[in-house]
Amino acid sequence: MDLQFLGGAGEIGRSALLIDDRLLLDYGMETSTPPRYPVGDIDPDAVVVSHGHLDHAGAVPALLAGDARPPIHWTPPTRDLATVLAEDTLKLHGTSPQVPFTDEHVRRVSQVSETHGYREPFEAAGYEVTFFDAGHVPGSAHVLVEDREGRGPSDGSSGRSPRDGDTRLLYTGDFHTDDQRLVSGATARPDADVVVTESTYADVGHDPRSAVEERFVDRLRTTVWEGGTVVVPAFAIGRTQEVMLICEAHDVDCYVDGMGTRVTDLFRRHPDFVRDSDALRRAASNARVVDGRDGQSGGSAPGFRAGRGASREERERIAGQNTVVVTTSGMLSGGPAMTYVPAIADNPVNAVALTGYQVEGTPGRELLETGSAEFDGRVLPVSARVEQFDFSAHADEAGLRSLLEAYRDSEVLVVHGDDCAGFASALRADGFDADAPAVGDEHTV
Ligand SMILES: [Zn+2]
Repeated sequence: MDLQFLGGAGEIGRSALLIDDRLLLDYGMETSTPPRYPVGDIDPDAVVVSHGHLDHAGAVPALLAGDARPPIHWTPPTRDLATVLAEDTLKLHGTSPQVPFTDEHVRRVSQVSETHGYREPFEAAGYEVTFFDAGHVPGSAHVLVEDREGRGPSDGSSGRSPRDGDTRLLYTGDFHTDDQRLVSGATARPDADVVVTESTYADVGHDPRSAVEERFVDRLRTTVWEGGTVVVPAFAIGRTQEVMLICEAHDVDCYVDGMGTRVTDLFRRHPDFVRDSDALRRAASNARVVDGRDGQSGGSAPGFRAGRGASREERERIAGQNTVVVTTSGMLSGGPAMTYVPAIADNPVNAVALTGYQVEGTPGRELLETGSAEFDGRVLPVSARVEQFDFSAHADEAGLRSLLEAYRDSEVLVVHGDDCAGFASALRADGFDADAPAVGDEHTV
């Protein structure tokens, strides 16, 4: 197999890996300004997407901008999330030249989409491909690609060069080995000769989830009891639902606003891909959707409905209500959080409870480090208490190693991290055959 690393190698964002010029794994975008996309001019026979996050699925419609119509393989939730993300990207950027696709290309996605469940092998570009639950977000998959000599429709008669022999490649995608409330941890360790692994938290140890959760719930309860409001910035995909599940489990009332409400609806349509669909239903009932209808509960039939979008006045009124508001964006770079945080900023009884890693250069990071951040163009000092809670959906160092331990005899290629080379060298010191390719690198396995 010839591997081409087109993005997400030695970095996080714009993940893309091309196998033998034919099979593309992931096609993401990095939400920098301007956005960045995978390198290279490619024409794959088929595409496989590991999960529905922007940095893995965000540029997929661009693959349909020309005449080619490669089939796109993914799980049902990943297909739906990719569509939501593409629509959101177009809403944010319009027809800016910074976005390499249009509404028309997004519509084409449904024409070439092919969905698969976990552990249901399928054929793509002549390979046998199997998804395994990666425990990251609903629908997330480890992707096993098997190049089997003498198998596959393109073998022999297609004019392609003969294969070297059997090769099995495991592309981990993003994964978590611990249980979250929304999804269970990854446990599959399919045989593979080569493992391309993410390494987001290769130098981090997460506190036990139960301890983080206890500290978080304590902050919510104490703040509300003291008469304050907690704004909980959370990513729309995964984190918003995780926080809603925590609130329900601990009997904490909350409002939910932003794109996370739409994604909650989406996950409820795929009950087989969440850990406990009854718990998600209860969490949706427990939360009040801010949707421009006076924040009334969306919990009754026909169920939790995505908001149409509330006014600034309604959001400011809710912020003053001595409550908990879960809202996008997770790093304070946009979304309804830009109204909620300024609305509670000047009272030290209030709190901002960040629920994930804050990337360098984001307002969330600035707020954590300096106590003030830029909202809508002006720098605002925040007197409200600011705290960070590590609800990561990625394996930490111990989790990464617990997966890799099953692959001591395989070649390990480290991608998707801030220090891929450092982790690869730590693995080599531990006896692994490990390397960290860079964007643009080709690698034969
Ligand atoms: Zn992800």
